[in-house]
Amino acid sequence: MQLIDGKQISAQVKERAAAETAKLSEQGVAVCLAVVIVGDDPASRIYVNNKKKACAFCGIRSEEYALPAETTEEELLALVEKLNADQAVNGILVQLPLPRQINEERVIAAIRPEKDVDAFHAVNVGKIMIGNYDFLPCTPAGCIELIDSTGVSIEGKRCVVIGRSNIVGKPMAMLLLHRNGTVTICHSRTKNLSEICREADILVAAVGKANFVTADMVKEGAVVIDVGMNRLDNGKLCGDVDFEAVSKVAGYLTPVPGGVGPMTIATLMQNTVKAAKIQNGIKD
Ligand code: NAP
Repeated sequence: MQLIDGKQISAQVKERAAAETAKLSEQGVAVCLAVVIVGDDPASRIYVNNKKKACAFCGIRSEEYALPAETTEEELLALVEKLNADQAVNGILVQLPLPRQINEERVIAAIRPEKDVDAFHAVNVGKIMIGNYDFLPCTPAGCIELIDSTGVSIEGKRCVVIGRSNIVGKPMAMLLLHRNGTVTICHSRTKNLSEICREADILVAAVGKANFVTADMVKEGAVVIDVGMNRLDNGKLCGDVDFEAVSKVAGYLTPVPGGVGPMTIATLMQNTVKAAKIQNGIKD
């Protein structure tokens, strides 16, 4: 089994973003990402800090808006409106999940699609669906980079995605389809899950359950991408794949941490640079 090094590959993506930011700066464009966090969820705080760190590495100015947990939907929507109108802000990222009193869908819908660097807005989701999009869906695009890094071609391969969420499973399946994979999406009502997974040349697990994918679900030599980020009782982070056992069967496997996570952030950087280009009428 060959380990897919998300840390190293994400560093390359961020270096490319940094080079573009430097070029934009020469043209008088300063790239800026506004990061909004509501409440004090420790995991969200870690993600936001990592995103800010990546911005600093890429020469992107980050503005943090840390709002208290009791913030109302109206207050958050007012901030989004302000950031939408601010010409110095190229990208807006609202860290999810939001506290219960705030409707996430309404907040996502309020972000101007041109500044929606997470690609969660219905306009951007629709563009991804038809295959003509400005912003890559961050986590799935990171997974595609990781698959590509193995040298295994997606075209014509049996691809299985476990999970059908709007932010991971569905767009992941769509990107694999755009790359001419033959794609099956599995979910909690899927029958014969193990059997279907065993047929996969490329298996992507986005379930949110520790050690969900066991060795008997994996085809010999398959590329296995573990999107899961599960916090164990002992505080350790682990993926959806039983790493020890599956590493004996898979051809390529991503670790957790150090696999998909850093790629998601690197794609966010790419998207922020792209947003700045689009907003300033600069072609690739
Ligand atoms: P989600 O919205 O909870 O979706 C989980 C999916 O797994 C659902 O579609 C669900 O099916 C399916 N599922 C649950 N139990 C199943 C079972 N027994 N058999 C088959 N399918 C089952 O989660 P998400 O937001 O997609 O995230 C998934 C995981 O990825 C989480 O661990 C999350 O933390 C992680 N994640 C990581 C990154 C990163 O950057 N690395 C980014 C985003 C998410 P139903 O639809 O039928 O309920």
